[in-house]
Amino acid sequence: MSDYTRAWQVIVVGGGPAGSSAAWHLATVGLEVCVLDRAQFPRAKPCAEYVSPEASRILDAMGALAPLEAGGAASLTGMVVHAPSGDRIHGEFVARHGFRGFRDRGLGVRREILDTLLIERARAAGASVMEHVKVEAVTLDATGAACGVAVRTPHGLRTMRASLVIGADGLRSIVSRRLNLAHQSRWPRRVALVAHYRGVRDMGSLGEMHVTREGYMGLATVSGGLTNVALVVPRRGATGMSGNPTGFLEAWIAAHPTLSARFREAMRETPVRATGPFASHATRAWAPGAMLTGDAADFYDPFTGEGIYAALRGGALLAPFAVEAVQAREQGHPGAMRHALRAYDQARQHTFAGKWRVEKLIGAAVAFPTLMNHAARVLSRDRDLADLLVGVTGDFVPPSAVLRPRTLLRFLCS
Ligand SMILES: Cc1cc2nc3c(=O)[nH]c(=O)nc-3n(C[C@H](O)[C@H](O)[C@H](O)COP(=O)(O)OP(=O)(O)OC[C@H]3O[C@@H](n4cnc5c(N)ncnc54)[C@H](O)[C@@H]3O)c2cc1C
Repeated sequence: MSDYTRAWQVIVVGGGPAGSSAAWHLATVGLEVCVLDRAQFPRAKPCAEYVSPEASRILDAMGALAPLEAGGAASLTGMVVHAPSGDRIHGEFVARHGFRGFRDRGLGVRREILDTLLIERARAAGASVMEHVKVEAVTLDATGAACGVAVRTPHGLRTMRASLVIGADGLRSIVSRRLNLAHQSRWPRRVALVAHYRGVRDMGSLGEMHVTREGYMGLATVSGGLTNVALVVPRRGATGMSGNPTGFLEAWIAAHPTLSARFREAMRETPVRATGPFASHATRAWAPGAMLTGDAADFYDPFTGEGIYAALRGGALLAPFAVEAVQAREQGHPGAMRHALRAYDQARQHTFAGKWRVEKLIGAAVAFPTLMNHAARVLSRDRDLADLLVGVTGDFVPPSAVLRPRTLLRFLCS
């Protein structure tokens, strides 16, 4: 029987970090898993390519950390945020108040390298991976539960069957749209341009964020000593971007003298890639016979750079619920399947709710320069608080540590 005609226990749509993590965790416990991706790996993905210290824990469990470090991933020791006022927030991934990361550094790693390695780890764990296969629809059984997908292959349209379909197909997920779960947020409506440069001056081991009144730019050293340059601007201010993204990015850099001086001898090494708008949050992360994870379930804004961690963590989080759902369905208990999927959604809320709140607070500060300037003034004088906040973006300090009333007062009243 071919990979197309056999019945799978799980079909994972999308082989990015969320899909690879889900597939690895499920194949490791013995499920028959097939990952489908419309792309062929290595494939590019517009991203600032910062991987948080806590993401290393999952990469290590998947056997991906050592090859990444040996393969030249850059080490990132913290973040520096430049506010429009000129104040700087400098925070490092150091142990604080009993919170210690799996590593005291994050990674800067090209997505071509990271995602290819992760999909290989899923394959090594026993998952089948089919590339160049685009999912066009989710098929439903007589009760309306997902029971497979319709795919466009180089040889035409085929239908594939599965006890569970996992949508890990990123922003604008076809799985979430076909199951009527997709919900695009009204705000923020931002778009991004990403490229790699060689020779940007004064790059160190800190990721940098330059917040201006017209958006923000992230700079970070990534694999091979390149600088990842990611510009994020409100969509309304992006006129002309789609026709000439390279011109838009270069003009933006040229208009900001402190940055343009550092780019004087720099050479762009990859095409400028555009993406956005990105803020979306599925109405729920499940439907009968299906689950959503990674960006397909939610994404807010790249500023805090935690999407890769959320994608990896999401794959680990869903595994026990997916196993339960598959077993229930195969034993003919649709009620028990729904129960497992609903419990997954609750576990996601429990795990990520604090992170969503912090992202929204930071998102507001980025959108309103007065707020960002205030935060920068406070945090530039309170290094302890800056480290704590950077620890949250490093995923090893729980968001509740900065959401405590006493800590929030330090922000407001200093
Ligand atoms: C500008 C920008 C900068 C960012 N910077 C960072 C950062 O520095 N650090 C960080 O942690 N996060 C960052 N993020 C977020 C991060 O990129 C995402 O959260 C992460 O990639 C989510 O992983 P995923 O597996 O859910 O989705 P993706 O990585 O998007 O993977 C989805 C996969 O699904 C496949 N696919 C899509 N549709 C179909 C289909 N119909 N059929 C088959 N396959 C399909 C795609 O080919 C792709 O391989 C950034 C995001 C943006 C937009």
